[in-house]
Amino acid sequence: MGNLIIRNAHIKDGEAQKDIKIIDGKIVEIAARIQNDNNLEEIDAKGNAVLPTLIESHIHPDKAFLEDRKPNLSGTLEEALKNTAELKKLYTYDDVKKRAEKVLRWSVLNGTTIMRAHPDVDPFEKTLGVEVLLDLKEKYKEVLDMQIVAFPQEGIIQSPGVLEMMEESIKMGADVVGGCPYSERTMEDTIKQLNIVFDLAEKYNLPIDMHADFGTNADDPQNTCIELICDMTIERGYQGRVAIGHVTTLGSLDPEVAAPIFDKIAKADVSIVPLPVTDMFMTGRTERKNIPRGMAPVLSMMERGVNLAYSSNNIRNAFTPFGNADLIAVGYLLQVSQQMGSADQRRAVLDMVTYNAAKAIGVRDTYGIEVGKNADIVIYDCDDLSNLINDQPLVRYVIKNGKIIVQNELSRKMASVLMGD
Ligand SMILES: [Zn+2]
Repeated sequence: MGNLIIRNAHIKDGEAQKDIKIIDGKIVEIAARIQNDNNLEEIDAKGNAVLPTLIESHIHPDKAFLEDRKPNLSGTLEEALKNTAELKKLYTYDDVKKRAEKVLRWSVLNGTTIMRAHPDVDPFEKTLGVEVLLDLKEKYKEVLDMQIVAFPQEGIIQSPGVLEMMEESIKMGADVVGGCPYSERTMEDTIKQLNIVFDLAEKYNLPIDMHADFGTNADDPQNTCIELICDMTIERGYQGRVAIGHVTTLGSLDPEVAAPIFDKIAKADVSIVPLPVTDMFMTGRTERKNIPRGMAPVLSMMERGVNLAYSSNNIRNAFTPFGNADLIAVGYLLQVSQQMGSADQRRAVLDMVTYNAAKAIGVRDTYGIEVGKNADIVIYDCDDLSNLINDQPLVRYVIKNGKIIVQNELSRKMASVLMGD
């Protein structure tokens, strides 16, 4: 745990710069000018943007960097699942570790120090992904807080043995119960899976994080489960402990049909995590014109009080052959695709990947640039939060528990006429 004073921090647009004092990894004071009585290490933010570190609230490190082993030529979910299942049969511990570790390192270098990882738990990968990520969680504990979700990518009812593997994963140390209702063969099995996920979560008192409603066909009952999930959340008293990734089908509904569903999501306090790169890459593959780029409608949902984060989901594989674990780059795609162009809306995108994501994964109590919170801080070469995503700025510092873990000092050499006044 580190001690540090950060000088001249730009914490909020329109407010004066402040100093931040950190003792034993916690923020203890934020003020215009802080005395350095104990000769603490200091860094000068020089009026740059100082944010809590970014949160990757939904990512699959175990199946990253597979994009060229078996490319997804149709771009469909079906082919992605089929190709990845074949590759998973060939996984070794070292192969998974090498690829997952690259995701972790890139994430930290890009200003992310909190992550919820979703390793597959299925008949092909079994619990290998969970084992690898548990080892990496320990190895990287000083720079990254990781939660591990036991994610049944191939379903639970249609894949005998998966429920037992999920329970084994929890006993090994998985923190969250995953679900994938669209992976079952029938609606009846989909409902059975949802009940099993809630039962397992209740049994071990763990939060829930599912993949659901991934498509653009709002007439498909297996891809319109969100209301059912909200009802179960309320029935089981699980408000505030359920997050759902994708939910793209909501973007295909008429606004008057969608509005009461958004109200229900807000009432159940279920967090929604759009996964812009995957959502836009995989949806609309059967259309020939006016091709939809399916995503949950972020602005309309925000207006009705739904908590929305966003995340990378996949880094370079059959589901998403793109990505570099840079959440600011993903935010750029989100703000364009969701037509979030005003200063307030662009600023809201930044909230999605920080404070909203903290709520989605249950770390809000220790998170933020506030006295008493963990000193997990990223400083960007940018002085305007509403344009931070537009700037795609250099990360100057990443600070974890008050310790500097990444430092990129500017060393530009420019002709004086280019320096400005
Ligand atoms: Zn996912």
